[in-house]
Amino acid sequence: MNCQKATVLISGKLDGELTPEQEKDLNAHLESCPNCQKEYQELLRLKEVTSDMKFADLPDRYWAGYWNTIYNRLERGIGWVFVSVGVIILVGFFLWNIFDGFFLDNSIPLILRLGIGLAGFGALILLVSVLRERLFARKHERYDEVER
Ligand SMILES: [Zn+2]
Repeated sequence: MNCQKATVLISGKLDGELTPEQEKDLNAHLESCPNCQKEYQELLRLKEVTSDMKFADLPDRYWAGYWNTIYNRLERGIGWVFVSVGVIILVGFFLWNIFDGFFLDNSIPLILRLGIGLAGFGALILLVSVLRERLFARKHERYDEVER
C-alpha cells in the first residue's frame, strides 16, 4: 500500500466505512509509516474535537431558549437597576425631608453634613443591594429544588 491510498483509507477508517480487510491493510501501513500514522492521529484528534461541538445539530428550540435566557437576564438586570435606583431615590427623598433641618442647618459644619449625608446614602445603597441579593438567592434556591 502506498501513502496516497492510505490517506484515502484513513478518512474511511475515521468514518467507520472500511471493510475489515481494508482496515487490516491500513493498520499494517500505519504501523510501518510514521507519516501516515501522524496524519491519522491528527485527523482522529480533529474528529474528536469537532464531534464534541455539535452546535449545528442543536435544535432551534435550544437556541430560542438560549436567547430567551440571555434576554431575560438582561431584562431582569435592567429591571433591578431601575428598582434599586428608584428605591434609593424615594428613601433618600424621605430621609432628606426628615433631616431637612439638619442638612440645611448652617451652624453645623458643611463637611459634617456632607459626611453624614454621604454615609447615609452609601448605607442606603448597601441596604438595597443586600435586600436584592437575599431576594435573588431565595429565588435561586427555589429553582434548584425544582431542578432536583
Ligand atoms: Zn504512508
